[in-house]
Amino acid sequence: MSTPARPANRHHKRPRGEGQWALGYREPLNKNEENKKADDGLNVRQRIIDIYSKRGFDSIDPADLRGRFRWYGLYTQRKPGIDGGKTAVLEPEELDDRYFMIRIRTDGGQLSLEQLRVIADVSNDYARGTADVTDRQNIQLHWVEIESVPDMWTRLEAVGLSTTEACGDTPRGMLGCPLAGIDADEVIDGRPQLQEIRERYIGDPAFSNLPRKFKTAISGCAAHCTVHEINDIAFVGVLNEQGEAGFDLWVGGGLSTNPMFAKRLGVFVRPEQAHEVWAGVTGIFRDYGYRRLRGRARLKFLMNDWGPEKFREVLQTEYLKYELPDGPAPAAPRGDRRDHVGVHLQRDGNYYVGFAPRVGRLSGDLLHRIADIAERHGSGRVATTVEQKMVILDVAPDRVDSIVAELEAADLRVNPSTFRRQTMACTGIEYCKLAIVETKNAASELIDELERRLPDFAAPLTININGCPNSCARIQTADIGLKGQLVVNDRGEQVEGYQVHLGGSFGLNPSFGRKVRGLKTTAEDLPDYVERVVRNYEKQKDEGESFAE
Ligand code: SF4
Repeated sequence: MSTPARPANRHHKRPRGEGQWALGYREPLNKNEENKKADDGLNVRQRIIDIYSKRGFDSIDPADLRGRFRWYGLYTQRKPGIDGGKTAVLEPEELDDRYFMIRIRTDGGQLSLEQLRVIADVSNDYARGTADVTDRQNIQLHWVEIESVPDMWTRLEAVGLSTTEACGDTPRGMLGCPLAGIDADEVIDGRPQLQEIRERYIGDPAFSNLPRKFKTAISGCAAHCTVHEINDIAFVGVLNEQGEAGFDLWVGGGLSTNPMFAKRLGVFVRPEQAHEVWAGVTGIFRDYGYRRLRGRARLKFLMNDWGPEKFREVLQTEYLKYELPDGPAPAAPRGDRRDHVGVHLQRDGNYYVGFAPRVGRLSGDLLHRIADIAERHGSGRVATTVEQKMVILDVAPDRVDSIVAELEAADLRVNPSTFRRQTMACTGIEYCKLAIVETKNAASELIDELERRLPDFAAPLTININGCPNSCARIQTADIGLKGQLVVNDRGEQVEGYQVHLGGSFGLNPSFGRKVRGLKTTAEDLPDYVERVVRNYEKQKDEGESFAE
């Protein structure tokens, strides 16, 4: 007689629990949780102002330096000259430089020229002129000294900018379409909801101790530019059966190791409900999220275990206390690129002009130049995109040719090659302590080589380069994703290189790139390798077939 199967019971498999507060596991189960319990990350601001900025780097409590500083967008940079082979073997303090990266959150990406100029000034005055636009629409500065931070905050906050919760286990900078409010095909303008969530909840201690980082996107963009598929929570513009505009709710996306696409809960969220739905989902993450292991703490793991039906039920019964109606899925995205590069008509008859800096790398001087160009052409605002690009908004028809010429002259390409347009790179070994390889320069050189070797290639093709197994530059959803690691070259030497992922995509049938066993390239051979892949694709593709297909 066979033994009857034991009923599935999660607690038999995980007797120590997952550290879920809602199930009574309030005692910290790892160092990060201990630090967060000992003192809320938000409290470090006053210590930076009162103590650390006055007494200098050596006065900083290590628990603040490597933990709570992130609640204000501050990470220590990697000490220069430490190669990627030492990343995993050195103690954190051996990798720490005395300088910081600071991340400025630009929720939704839209900036006034005044804000852009303040960022430019702060970059030039305190950050050696550095400025990178990230794939979450933030702007990051480097080489910041602790003594400068209070002044930087004063100047940024005077124009409505902030670094609060730009990093850490918090609701980080929220994505919104850079064209919100002006795009002719927009389903709904998500800015009021984004603004309301920001004002109500960012910096609120109710949400400042989450199990891990928490990423939000809110958009009615017809091109689906805010990559809702890989955010922890995403509100995607839809029209219900009555033609009413609202949002379809997606939860639990994320990349890094164990990438997962977000799941639709199948509900229709009215615009006025968005903030409480956001608070409900974020509350579920706070209360039910897995806090035992950092590697399992993102919301995607909870969603993977619960599924969207249970998630919806808990959201409605325990948090909202009302039911949300069923709602439709979003329409297919417009076009095959999500980046808003080029010249396009706005619904008011003006134009927006999207341009491609090199892999998001800008500078204080270049930000000033962009502001000046925009102003000379009658525009009062710019925006960052989630593809490390920028857009100048509200350009009158008779000023378009002139603004394109000025941007191109500044090497800010309005009509870039596919390679310039669709290559992204994370921070990499230049500044990042987790990095194994260099990324920004490698990507920039790759673009030059591919433009030279394949001048006529014009199909969409994304090339994303990461400096380590984390996925800050979204390698798993790129056509060609390159994960930095050490590899062995022909001469048997260990050198910088990349594991290759091929065929990732977003859209109606999103897929993660396939990690082909043994498919690696050295950094030196990268242009040859990518050229071969692109030429093979061109030879073998059928009419209209994308790279991922
Ligand atoms: Fe750093 Fe890795 Fe993220 Fe690149 S992917 S920025 S190397 S953590």
